Amino acid sequence: MIIAGLQKNSFIDFPGKISCVLFTTGCNFVCPYCHNADLARGEYPARFQSTEVIAFLKSRRGMLDGVAITGGEPTLADGIVDLCRAVKSLGYPVKLDTNGSRPGVLRKLLDQQLVDFVAMDIKAPLDSYGPFCPDPKIRERLTATIRLIMESAPDYEFRTTCAKPFVDQVCVERIAKTIEGAARYVLQPFNRRAECLDPAFNRHQDPTIFPDEMQRLKQLAAPFVGHCMIR
Ligand code: SF4
Repeated sequence: MIIAGLQKNSFIDFPGKISCVLFTTGCNFVCPYCHNADLARGEYPARFQSTEVIAFLKSRRGMLDGVAITGGEPTLADGIVDLCRAVKSLGYPVKLDTNGSRPGVLRKLLDQQLVDFVAMDIKAPLDSYGPFCPDPKIRERLTATIRLIMESAPDYEFRTTCAKPFVDQVCVERIAKTIEGAARYVLQPFNRRAECLDPAFNRHQDPTIFPDEMQRLKQLAAPFVGHCMIR
């Protein structure tokens, strides 16, 4: 398997751990605000063979607490199960980022205890995914993934990138009700400074949701989940 990028150290990608980050390439979503446009388009900013990555991880044992795998959409990658198995066999906890579109792959990973932490993005209320994914059946798959994570993941969080016009108070409350009872829900303010998959997205409008409104969104979501935070 070819890895499209490797970040040697991160303090923010795996909650509570110093991790390295592995990037897979390719995505089945087209989120206009995506900050990993090259990876979403299936390009390779860098190329690492999985053997190189495993050698790197062996050399970092004792210095890293875990490995975060992100994309693109990692569950699309051929070899993701083997990659997680190889990383786990070195003793590293694995965190997987996902858009939630491939519950079958996630189930395989969880059944084989190859993932310790799952972070699923929830872009919008599940009936409003048009700007993010053209597949009309996506709602069923997202629902299955949410259920799977809440029932089976050792640790997890759901996350929403808060950008206008996709997110407002009504949206956040509806999302929070969809994941009612979840352990953690993270609201992430959109970063206007970064480039987007749709270059026009933040050029002709300001999608920023300012801190006082972010606090309001948090207040609305908090009653439905164990812990709601802004990150
Ligand atoms: S933000 Fe959207 S398009 Fe970008 S990698 Fe994630 S799911 Fe894919």
